Amino acid sequence: MSIVTHDPTERDTRPNTNLLSLLTNHLVLQHTAPHLTARDRLALGATSNDFRHLVHHSPGVFRHLDLSVVKAAKLDLSHSGEAWRNDQDDENVTEDDFYSRPLRGVFATLQRRDLLSDVQTLVLDGLSVTAELCNEIITNPAYNVRILSVRGVKNLNERGLRGVLKYACRPSRPAGTPKLKGLYIFTEPSRDSLSKKPATPAHGEEASSGAASGDLWYDVKGRVVQRDISAEWANTLIDCQGIIAFDAVLCTGPCHLNSTATGTVPAGNPWAAATVALPGCRGCGSAPEGLTSFHSAADKSQLPLLPDVPLLSSSLRAATFPTSTGMSFVARCSACVQDRHCATCNVWWCEACYTPPQSGLSAVADFEYGARKVHRSCLECGYGCNDCISRTQKCCTGCGGGYCITHNEGSTSTLCDWCSTRKRRAAASRRQHSPPTTKSQLAWATWMRTQNSIGEQRARERSFPREALRCLAARS
Ligand SMILES: [Zn+2]
Ligand SMILES: [Zn+2]
Ligand SMILES: [Zn+2]
Ligand SMILES: [Zn+2]
Ligand SMILES: [Zn+2]
Repeated sequence: MSIVTHDPTERDTRPNTNLLSLLTNHLVLQHTAPHLTARDRLALGATSNDFRHLVHHSPGVFRHLDLSVVKAAKLDLSHSGEAWRNDQDDENVTEDDFYSRPLRGVFATLQRRDLLSDVQTLVLDGLSVTAELCNEIITNPAYNVRILSVRGVKNLNERGLRGVLKYACRPSRPAGTPKLKGLYIFTEPSRDSLSKKPATPAHGEEASSGAASGDLWYDVKGRVVQRDISAEWANTLIDCQGIIAFDAVLCTGPCHLNSTATGTVPAGNPWAAATVALPGCRGCGSAPEGLTSFHSAADKSQLPLLPDVPLLSSSLRAATFPTSTGMSFVARCSACVQDRHCATCNVWWCEACYTPPQSGLSAVADFEYGARKVHRSCLECGYGCNDCISRTQKCCTGCGGGYCITHNEGSTSTLCDWCSTRKRRAAASRRQHSPPTTKSQLAWATWMRTQNSIGEQRARERSFPREALRCLAARS
């Protein structure tokens, strides 16, 4: 691919710049290769001997490998049902062998071509991934994976994976192990990544544009991890603390043992994983455990991995680096924000600023005297602050009942959905029965009358012979 200039003579004087010489520059290659699918990279290597040498022998070409878009890595049960039955007859084939077969096939191909050790960021979102395969990726010296993403995978025994992680991070582990530094498992897999077709040219652009809406935790507040994280996973996060980072962090609310403010409130669970990101408390602007923010001296293994998986680097710093600077958050589990967080606007009050009243007072009295800062007026809205409740929860002027303007579809600012619908129906019925007034309504009424009279006339004509015969019979 030559660079074409307007002056034809100039081309001869310029150094011969083509795609090969451009990609030979290590920096250009490092920034270009992740934007191509694995298939495109191999296709580029198949075009000539020079490109083959470049693709297969330059370090970093396969550093970022997204197999979620590779057809050969997907388990297709519709076509392999026959194979499954055949495998069941073979006693040596385990369930793990069957479910991880497509990925093991891809990894075997990469190892044969001496490319497997080059992979440092591995995305397996939505694929069939077993705990044994994860164990191999984490512990086998043939792999050099530093960032692994297994979000939304199938056939994963999470208990088995927790055992693998605990063993990999055991105190007696060999120095320099595990190589894995970050594991994405709790957040939602990227819809861009899953919907991408292998031949989509804008692969990388779509992946990098995921940050446009802001980073979870730092910019996006509220429930940032949709799935419930079990106490067993919280234990695993403790086991891997400082060694492997996850896309969720431990809650540091004062009721947990790992909090800097522990002991200031009655103890709860020893530890729990955080699923809610909050700004500073409405009362004091901070939190008993302090705010978490990204800075150069921060312990990166204590920060959450940010979706999406970084494209141009496999470092923990890149995976935890927020796009907007100066932002901070408080990471809490759902138990630590109960009765003190508004799910609509994410305002909350910390333990030092607010203690929810005991349930001795009735809910009505609480609301009237403003003792409670959050209430549950609507099942779908969840707990809301007084500002949000006065904005969304209304009293119907028709029937006097309460309703939510957000979730009662068809309601207005003065009428509930039932009264509003009834009012609309009554108006429509009045319109239907009122005498025609406009020119078009009069024309329509005249035409309908004509049609009706024609119908009656034809009915009379059809019954005439029968009536005539009956009359004649009566006369005779
Ligand atoms: Zn406070
Ligand atoms: Zn908590
Ligand atoms: Zn609110
Ligand atoms: Zn609602
Ligand atoms: Zn009503």
